[in-house]
Amino acid sequence: MDEKITELTQEAVSAIDQAETLEQLQAIRVKYLGKKGIITGLLRSLGQVAPEARPRLGQAVNSARATVEQRIEARREQLAAELTQARLERERIDITLPGRVWPRGRLHPLTQTLNDIKAFFMGYGFEVVEGPEVETDYYNFEALNIPKDHPARDMQDTFYLGEDLLLRTQTSPVQIRVMEATKPPVRIIAPGKVYRVDADPTHSPMFQQVEGLLVDKDITFGDLKGILAEFARHLFGKERGVRFRPSYFPFTEPSAEMDISCMMCKGAGCRVCSEEGWIEILGSGMVHPRVLEMVGYDPEEVGGFAFGMGVERIAMLRYGIDDIRLFFDNDLRFLHQF
Ligand SMILES: [Zn+2]
Repeated sequence: MDEKITELTQEAVSAIDQAETLEQLQAIRVKYLGKKGIITGLLRSLGQVAPEARPRLGQAVNSARATVEQRIEARREQLAAELTQARLERERIDITLPGRVWPRGRLHPLTQTLNDIKAFFMGYGFEVVEGPEVETDYYNFEALNIPKDHPARDMQDTFYLGEDLLLRTQTSPVQIRVMEATKPPVRIIAPGKVYRVDADPTHSPMFQQVEGLLVDKDITFGDLKGILAEFARHLFGKERGVRFRPSYFPFTEPSAEMDISCMMCKGAGCRVCSEEGWIEILGSGMVHPRVLEMVGYDPEEVGGFAFGMGVERIAMLRYGIDDIRLFFDNDLRFLHQF
């Protein structure tokens, strides 16, 4: 029996050392130490040996069992460590790899410019209002002192949508709509898209205007000059020179265009300013008494000033862009520069 015990122990130990997985190891444990296992069977069979040999053989079997148990435990720890190591290798994360950078959108240069324009006038208490892009002949022309036979209608080539409907050629109709609906004082700016039959590097059939209107008691041309000069310096820098030139618009009297000193040549004359040293940025004037009467205001009681500018033109001057079409091409290489 001694020999058999030694043989079994060796056999078990070599099986344990060759086990490659925890499942195989468990099968070996069952085979030798389980309820019906070989070594367990040996312990049971001790009852049949001679009583004097029993203690010695009992000790030998117990020691064999302890050996096998220890060996299984040692191998189990070894296998578990190997598995953990393999798993760590497999699930390794290289934290030195750069992360994925999500593309980030940004505001279109026209939106940025419009936001700056709005912010300036809102700071002076102007309210931002909007109006329809499809207008009637009355709001776009008639109510702005431009009757059907008025030569000013030749100044704009209009997209007509029928007898009476058109795509607005200016944001000025919003002034009329606001004045019809409210009593003075009025202090608004009206940004929005306008349409004209025109297309070249500096003109687009669709562009954006910002219209401004202030109506109150005791408003003078000095008020107009003060706020617009401040506006020009806000957008183009404190050192900008500003001048007003007499002009003509049917809905204002007197009318003036506002120029700023050229930011390229500082007034010396260059290609950007056509050698003038000055660049026109907006049109303005005192609201024509006829326009005030048309909306039911009394020109003896209240007066006001209005102004209008093209957002694209302002943005082109600000960023030194010479082709208006770049704004609408949606080329990201262009847009990313702002
Ligand atoms: Zn210049």
